[in-house]
Amino acid sequence: MPGQKDHANLFDDARSRLEEVFEAIHVHGDARERLKQPNLAMQVSVPVRMDDGSLRVFPGWRVQYNNTLGPAKGGIRFHPDVSQEEVTTLSFWMAVKCAVVDLPYGGGKGGVKVDPKRLSKLELERLSRGYIRAIADIMGPDRDIPAPDVNTNPMVMGWMADEFDHLARGKVPAAITGKPPALGGSLGRVAATGRGALHVLDLWAAREERKPEETTLAIQGFGNAAYHFARLAHERGYRIVAVSDSQGAIYSRDGLAPDPIMEQKTQHQRLHEMVYCDDSVCIAENVEKLERDELLGLEVDILVLAALENQVHEHNVGQVKAGAVLEIANGPVTSYADEQLEARRVPVLPDVLANTGGVIVSYYEWVQNRSGERWAEAEVNARLAERLEYQSRLVLERAEREEISYRKAAYRQGIERIADAIQLRGNCQGSE
Ligand code: NAD
Repeated sequence: MPGQKDHANLFDDARSRLEEVFEAIHVHGDARERLKQPNLAMQVSVPVRMDDGSLRVFPGWRVQYNNTLGPAKGGIRFHPDVSQEEVTTLSFWMAVKCAVVDLPYGGGKGGVKVDPKRLSKLELERLSRGYIRAIADIMGPDRDIPAPDVNTNPMVMGWMADEFDHLARGKVPAAITGKPPALGGSLGRVAATGRGALHVLDLWAAREERKPEETTLAIQGFGNAAYHFARLAHERGYRIVAVSDSQGAIYSRDGLAPDPIMEQKTQHQRLHEMVYCDDSVCIAENVEKLERDELLGLEVDILVLAALENQVHEHNVGQVKAGAVLEIANGPVTSYADEQLEARRVPVLPDVLANTGGVIVSYYEWVQNRSGERWAEAEVNARLAERLEYQSRLVLERAEREEISYRKAAYRQGIERIADAIQLRGNCQGSE
């Protein structure tokens, strides 16, 4: 609702975007009701034998938002702030984004409330396997296909896939995506989210007649998705002037090179300590240290949000001075802040389009696993580019034609596809 402040509840905030879409594209009442809540939300507890012999029990969830277009699909997050509300919201966004890029999936998401940095590698493996044992009954290649998200990676997916195979008494590689390539993972999956975000940015920049070398970027969050985006954007000629992580931020008007930053980070060097150029720590000359959230207020061409949800909200949206925003994270801008940016005519390339590279290549992994094929990385990347450019063009052209934001255009594209399918399936589904 215009003018209203942020909702207290993340899911209410996310769902509030549906009303505008329902009205604009005349969604039937049955479909509206169906889309307002998830199909299934499962809470589990995951017991883990710790290395010291004690037992700890971690709460976890798996939510399947909607399965009209296909099986549920979505990542698993390990984070101390995970809650059922967060997992439900993330599953809702997955449902929208799969439909925006025309994948035969509904949305799903999973999570465990845990700080994985406090677990040993063996404890993490026991937790990963325990979580899969807890949700195995609702999983499977035709029901619900998990993948990585924050703090889960190909190694974790490998353990999870192995556990599912044990339970199924056979090989079911299409049950989980984001696996290591040696276990049936797709080549190109690790970089896919960042690569996809760059395709969306490139397409938009070309329409705006903006050259990469004349475009500055500030990137919030320097994790998996952001690093690959930054590496590829740097190769394309974009100038990355600032990056941040949960501890702090660094800035250089001359531009930062992502690879040395990542090298230092993997050697346990803190990002905001990389500013001092001595023998042990040096990533570039003229690097300044910033407070973490100062990055959000930098005067850059593009602010790239690649950390977590709710980063730009009613209290800090006024500080954003970037010319445009690219959302790699899920839900980094609240609906209120989004309205403020729209009113100020700051274009936002929305999450439900810009971060779909990961789920698109997860879909390619599922297709390869089901057909027994192995595609070369170049083929995966070419298919990703083709799909994303086609679907992004539809969104950007719709936004221009209907004179609406890119987010509204993307939501209309996605919700239209789901709502049409709900209608076409007939009235009997769910009413018997
Ligand atoms: P990650 O855990 O690898 O990276 C997250 C990064 O954000 C870390 O560097 C962390 O230090 C940083 N961070 C956390 N809080 C911050 C803050 N307040 N300010 C600045 N930095 C902060 O996770 P990821 O896989 O790169 O995912 C990042 C986001 O992208 C999430 O919202 C995720 O849901 C979304 N996403 C990821 C993928 C994927 O394939 N990895 C796909 C789609 C969407």
